[in-house]
Amino acid sequence: MVSTSESRHDSVTDTRADPVESESALETARRQLHHAADRLEIDPNVVERLKHPQKVHEVTIPIERDDGTVEVFTGYRAQHDSVRGPFKGGLRYHPDVTRDECVGLGMWMTWKCAVMDLPFGGAKGGVAVNPKELSAEENERLTRRFAQELRDVIGPNQDIPAPDMGTDSQTMAWLMDAYSMQKGETTPGVVTGKPPVVGGSQGRQEAPGRSVAIVTKLLCEYYDRPLEETTVAVQGYGSVGASAARLLDDWGATVVAVSDVNGAMYDPSGIDTATVPSHDDEPEAVTTYADEVISNDELLTLDVDVLVPAALGNVITRRNAENIAAEFVVEGANGPTTSAADSILEERGIEVIPDILANAGGVTVSYFEWLQDINRRAWSLERVNNELETEMCSAWRAVKTEYERRDVTWRDAAYIVALSRIAEAHEVRGLWP
Ligand code: GLU
Repeated sequence: MVSTSESRHDSVTDTRADPVESESALETARRQLHHAADRLEIDPNVVERLKHPQKVHEVTIPIERDDGTVEVFTGYRAQHDSVRGPFKGGLRYHPDVTRDECVGLGMWMTWKCAVMDLPFGGAKGGVAVNPKELSAEENERLTRRFAQELRDVIGPNQDIPAPDMGTDSQTMAWLMDAYSMQKGETTPGVVTGKPPVVGGSQGRQEAPGRSVAIVTKLLCEYYDRPLEETTVAVQGYGSVGASAARLLDDWGATVVAVSDVNGAMYDPSGIDTATVPSHDDEPEAVTTYADEVISNDELLTLDVDVLVPAALGNVITRRNAENIAAEFVVEGANGPTTSAADSILEERGIEVIPDILANAGGVTVSYFEWLQDINRRAWSLERVNNELETEMCSAWRAVKTEYERRDVTWRDAAYIVALSRIAEAHEVRGLWP
């Protein structure tokens, strides 16, 4: 089985929300929308529209377990906004998946695609299931049935799923196959994040981590800080965390800590990240290779220049934001900082580069994959990486312009770039009927 999970391998804890501060992704997403809209001359009617998803599909997915019993799971696809193009976003398999979480994460996809100026809207979906408790055969049956239930609402010009937490390139191959079998034609463009042998793109798996590394490099340049003098701590060592850590290490930064669900490896003189197996190479192995182990909570409060939370959402909260000692936070995960924590970090002068920019390499290379599928022409890894770098630099420049012009946080600046593009599209298209 091809295993290139985007985020099954990025989880560092099983609890999504901090117990003392539980804020849903939808609450955070709506709060961030208002925060940015207040700083922008934007039609309040458009903001009102954007607070709500266009459509949310809820399906039941009965599957036969290996022991012959039937179990029924619930799946969702929240399609938030499609004013700029087909809906785009991942599918998550996790026990905590809810309708509201999909809506909140779908909103983030709308902003993420817009900040990158991709011709896509935003969506997110998933199944409330613990994939670790499914055999490969059960997972395949679940995925094929989910594809069947979503068949009428996805498609290369309608809505294009991708991997997210608990799903991987194999999941996408099954989805593509199930969709294509029903359609009667091989349709690679219906999902992205597939194995390259069936139309997946080179560099897709590494892309979110690569964009985190590129943005960290641009940030350091902006603040006149040579990467060689920059220390970094990375929470999570799955495809996002490990790729980011290894690239930053290659480019000269000193990665002092990396972690998985069991804790963090810490070495103030710098970790040779190439020698530490990522979750994809050897699941949850970070601490078995470590000389010095610290907890994930300790990692978050290390006195480093750059902190990269690249695991789950809601890890920087009201409870620990006062103790964050890093100068910069670069969000590798989706929604790692709660709204309350965001305000505390802002007051404390800690700059946060938001997820919708930092980890947008994933959906950007998904866009490249979709183009390759539609044109039936594969790109080289070199071309993918070069074009990703170009797109990241241009998004960075657009966000930097708003950051300087409006004297706002990096998060607000990214939202302003995204919202302006989306609002303009809504205005020229108008409300129908
Ligand atoms: N799940 C990824 C994200 O949150 C990628 C989505 C995509 O490629 O469509 O950005």
